[in-house]
Amino acid sequence: MKKIHKGDRVIVIAGDDRGKEGVVLKVDSAKGKAIIEGIHFVKRHQKPTRAAPQGGILEKESPVDMSNLLVICGKCNAGVKTRTMALSDGSKVRACRKCGEMLASGK
Ligand SMILES: [Zn+2]
Repeated sequence: MKKIHKGDRVIVIAGDDRGKEGVVLKVDSAKGKAIIEGIHFVKRHQKPTRAAPQGGILEKESPVDMSNLLVICGKCNAGVKTRTMALSDGSKVRACRKCGEMLASGK
């Protein structure tokens, strides 16, 4: 089961964006990376288009390695490790390893 889901609130624990929080916009499980809203902007030079005749520099979120992310537990109010819990109906959910609170999947 994936540890990070789309819609999760996460905190970056390593790298230049360490300590920043944001919501996961996209998960690329094949590459083990995720795009997080407002985090890890890179500047890209944009060629002029009809919509933006000046061209210019576009800032865009770039993927962050998922090993550098922790899901934020609302109860602990901190980035936590998660574990997978099986429910009685056979479905699986993620739970906070610290307090045991179930973490909802991304909405
Ligand atoms: Zn917790």
